[in-house]
Amino acid sequence: MSDVTGSELRALMARVPSVEKVMASAEFAALLTEFGRTQVLGALRDALDAWRVSAQSGDASVSALDIAQLRASVEATLRRRNAARLRSVFNLTGTVLHTNLGRALLPDEAVQAVMKALTQPANLEFDLGTGKRGDRDDLIDELICELTGAEAATVVNNNAAAVLLSLSALASKKEVIVSRGELVEIGGAFRIPDIMSRAGARLREVGTTNRTHLKDYDEAIGPQTALLMKVHTSNYAICGFTKEVAIDAIAPLAHARGLAVAVDLGSGTLVDLTQWGLPRETTVRETIEAGADLVTFSGDKLLGGPQAGLIVGRRDLIAKIKKHPLKRALRVGKLTLAALEPVLQMYRAPEKLAERLTTLRLLTRPSDDIRLTAERVQPVLQRVAGERYVVVAEPMFSQIGSGALPVDVLPSYGLVIRTADGKRGGRQLLALEKRLREMARPVIGRIADDALRLDLRCLEAADEAQLIEQLKDMQA
Ligand SMILES: *Cc1c(COP(=O)(O)O)cnc(C)c1O
Repeated sequence: MSDVTGSELRALMARVPSVEKVMASAEFAALLTEFGRTQVLGALRDALDAWRVSAQSGDASVSALDIAQLRASVEATLRRRNAARLRSVFNLTGTVLHTNLGRALLPDEAVQAVMKALTQPANLEFDLGTGKRGDRDDLIDELICELTGAEAATVVNNNAAAVLLSLSALASKKEVIVSRGELVEIGGAFRIPDIMSRAGARLREVGTTNRTHLKDYDEAIGPQTALLMKVHTSNYAICGFTKEVAIDAIAPLAHARGLAVAVDLGSGTLVDLTQWGLPRETTVRETIEAGADLVTFSGDKLLGGPQAGLIVGRRDLIAKIKKHPLKRALRVGKLTLAALEPVLQMYRAPEKLAERLTTLRLLTRPSDDIRLTAERVQPVLQRVAGERYVVVAEPMFSQIGSGALPVDVLPSYGLVIRTADGKRGGRQLLALEKRLREMARPVIGRIADDALRLDLRCLEAADEAQLIEQLKDMQA
């Protein structure tokens, strides 16, 4: 770094074009049209300031500024600043309902409905029969009741909100009895004991971690009891010497004492998944038939819809919940309702569901089909990865994800990338993982057992073509 003398600096500075002149130049016209004057001016001032700072620090590489250079630097800044932060990625993690990657993908019918709701006025809270004000729940509650066998239903922002609202409306300043085996934490900040205290209810734990009996519930019931609650142990399994009390045993006890049973079902599936060879999961209808008075579940887990929390159950309980002030705070927007309705309608034709509902289609995708994808992508990825890596198509297991059925796995196929020298190559694998993650559409895999693993279950035809294209454009 050689020193720029005072007079050289003054000479350089004198040649910096004026802001007005740059803004009025032909080179900047297109930028002004695209980004508007305010942004361009801001980025230009930043570029000039940065140039002055380097010039004054005596950076020898600083040369006189010309407008073409300024334009390139301003444009780069503006493109970077305006790039969307929420971007599409390739979910090759092997977890179909990946909470960090946005959970359920929606079918086109839902996308079309959302598009309409976004661009046209709709009868969100308007009764077209009477011309009077309506209730947004009316759009969807009949359909939910039809599919679940419940008397009434309401929808809120997510299942955490559904639980919080239900407890606030039905158990504030009272006790809720929950088994110690079901004091669940769902990733992030959803913990049953915390939600309970936020709702102003007192948690009355019964039983032990591995075993809870009917008499534990019975003995805990007192004058302060508002609810008996069961929570789906979505993301863990307790096995070995265990006992839990089923809803059809708890319900008669609760009802005999004039109490209600609430069930947080988590994933809340509406149909028997075993018909597609998927693991068994109790449906919402079965839960209600077993005697639950209130059931809460997510819209964007196994149900395959948008983020939402569905609350179904006894009419009087739902009415109480809908009157609570938190319901207004936690209500869903029209986009959610627009997306939820066509997804729920698909459940009226269960025999078509595995083809139409994206989540179910991904979960039931045959591993032979996934293998063919793996065999097509393998040579392209091998070329990009280079000779320091070995890319092999191998069988693997996907997970459903989102806390649904944590112990069950789905036979899948994918690409396993190891280092060519047979060393563990932690850093080398991380380098490739980073390269893939930094692509135009980032590729998200996972590193496990000294290999980078890309499960191709969620790479359907259009995405496969896009990934191959993107890889082909990449330098080896
Ligand atoms: C996932 C889950 C929740 C939280 O649902 P969100 O829709 O993510 O808010 C609550 N309870 C259980 C048992 C769950 O599995």
